[in-house]
Amino acid sequence: MTAADLATSARDVPLDSHLHTNLSPDCNVAIDVYAAQAVEHGIDEIAITDHVDFEPGAPAYEFIPFATRERVVREAAERWGPHGVAIRFGVEITYDSRFDSAIRDHLDQHRYDYVIGSVHVYADSPYGASRIDAWIAGRSLAEIVAPYFEEVERAIRSELFDTIGHLDFVKRYLHPHVTAADLAAVPELYEPLLVALVESGTALEVNASGLRQAPQETYPSAAVVARYQLLGGTAVSAGSDAHTKESFSSGLEEAYRVAAAAGFRDLAFRRGGDRVAVTLPDRYGTPAHT
Ligand SMILES: [Zn+2]
Ligand SMILES: [Zn+2]
Repeated sequence: MTAADLATSARDVPLDSHLHTNLSPDCNVAIDVYAAQAVEHGIDEIAITDHVDFEPGAPAYEFIPFATRERVVREAAERWGPHGVAIRFGVEITYDSRFDSAIRDHLDQHRYDYVIGSVHVYADSPYGASRIDAWIAGRSLAEIVAPYFEEVERAIRSELFDTIGHLDFVKRYLHPHVTAADLAAVPELYEPLLVALVESGTALEVNASGLRQAPQETYPSAAVVARYQLLGGTAVSAGSDAHTKESFSSGLEEAYRVAAAAGFRDLAFRRGGDRVAVTLPDRYGTPAHT
């Protein structure tokens, strides 16, 4: 574990709602490793949100059957509940509008506690490492982000998801050609996404993984989360998006601070039934109830 990871590990927080285990193709952490860390860190509740893709050939396409994922997570929940950590069975579905109906069918037929919808960047995307230079050349910022942002808007408008994961993850792939500061200078590009979130009632995730990646800020930034609140947004979630033992709970406290600074008093979550609100600890400067 590096010093930076230690510095950013969260302690005594109620919830990390975005974690990957070895049930994801890009992670080799056993669920019990996180559960033990959650006990050690005083984290009361974690949602296991392994990847599920619908594009044939994508990394998490038919990677682990639903029944296996559910059994592994539910059994871990049984083992770890007595130790003071609640483990929820979630999923991070890669939204791809070409597979909207397959995703819809899957969610109709399979019960998760909590569902994150995210747009990812795979090799055939204009943001892939071998294509990014050609994609950026001669295009405006609005044109550059359009394929990603338009797909995110479709994910939101699908109303399939509790929350939208890492709203501007494309920031990772644009760096250093287009920086986080460049994107901060064009807040209007985010406006359709934020309006769609408000109109659909979908939560906005404050994803901490950007803090340990090139953008060095959450996905999306604090300013975007604040704008969402001003537009009438009422639901934020927060997750570390850990894929390694070392990144367990990494940046989660900063994500909490971003939510609190935007005026949120609690995190939006679901435990299978109705949505629940998980109160942010007072130390983040959570605004007083009025
Ligand atoms: Zn993701
Ligand atoms: Zn993730």
